[in-house]
Amino acid sequence: MRAILPILIVALFAYTVPAQASEPTFSDWLVDLRKDAQAKGISAKTLDAALTDLKPIPRVIELDRRQPEFTWTFRKYMEKLVNQARINKGKKKLAENAKLLNEIGQKYGIHPRFLVAFWGLETDYGRLAEGYFPTIAALATLAHDGRRSKFFREQLLTALKIIDQGHISVERMKGSWAGAMGHFQFIPTTFDAYATDYDGDGKIDIWGNQADAYASAANFLTKSGWKDEEIWGREVVLPKDFDFNMASMKVKKSLKDWQDLGVRKVGGGNLPAKEDMKASIVAPAGAHGPAFLVYKNFRTIMVWNRSIFYALGVGQLADRLVGRPAFTTLGPKGGRGLTHAEGKNLQQRLTAMGFDTGGVDGVVGPKSREAIRDFQRKAGLIPDGHPSLELLEQVQKGL
Ligand code: CA
Repeated sequence: MRAILPILIVALFAYTVPAQASEPTFSDWLVDLRKDAQAKGISAKTLDAALTDLKPIPRVIELDRRQPEFTWTFRKYMEKLVNQARINKGKKKLAENAKLLNEIGQKYGIHPRFLVAFWGLETDYGRLAEGYFPTIAALATLAHDGRRSKFFREQLLTALKIIDQGHISVERMKGSWAGAMGHFQFIPTTFDAYATDYDGDGKIDIWGNQADAYASAANFLTKSGWKDEEIWGREVVLPKDFDFNMASMKVKKSLKDWQDLGVRKVGGGNLPAKEDMKASIVAPAGAHGPAFLVYKNFRTIMVWNRSIFYALGVGQLADRLVGRPAFTTLGPKGGRGLTHAEGKNLQQRLTAMGFDTGGVDGVVGPKSREAIRDFQRKAGLIPDGHPSLELLEQVQKGL
């Protein structure tokens, strides 16, 4: 599952991948795949329907290999994904589907505002639920391609199983280029583990049946540790002398400890006096942006999608749907995130200075952020671990 990206409408041209010395041709590979699927008990009927004349989709490879021009800042991300139009539409969807959402919400123990928030971020409340790419062809393309073939082969075999179980036809099984399907963009293994036939017609239809789709999302969240009696977290204000080494998902403290450290609600109020609740602080735009105190449910949102931006997007959208306040700030205006090349350059320079970025791949992940913090500490800067153009300039100047 992943947040929606601008939909690219492209023409599909099926073609045959030229043979390379190291990898089998698509058709040879397909023969082997079919044997594998057969051994797993998938019927010949399903395999005939799904695999006959199957061709790889070049556009899927293109999308898998593309490097984003640059990453979004937190502000940009929120402006794109949790804007007023999305909030207004979500309120309407929440009202229109209130009866079903309340029923499913109560059964699974998850407030409808969260289901609608995931729905909004994944497929714009179902507008994109039908999907564009034929899932079997897309997954076969990626499974045949060498980059992440193990992962996608498992997704493909599971997709065949889903068809074999009669939930959906080959023709109707569509989704994203990477195999995410239906209202909540479940990949096949997520479907297999969590999707639910809520209306009891014998088919799990996450593409066309909202009851099945909502219940499947709710089931995923409940099984991933959702606590309905808690919120996801809240925006907070940090004290002036706050030690940004503590702004990390790795650091968990009780609300009382954060209160003692000077963390307060927006507006200055005390944090809730809940002894047993543990929370982390995240600062998605660095030391000069907003700060959030995040609870257990935030971690569950991150089981769905590992991005902190995404989790804050879900939290904020859910809140706004029921009239809770907007974040007071989204961080500095303007600017942009690092390009892939800049991310690489940052990692190379940090590595050359002896900081461990965990490799040089242009993707500034948790390990690179720790390396940034180490650099910032040595340089006498605020150790917020935030990759920015300013930070890159400082790193380029050296210590
Ligand atoms: Ca059903």
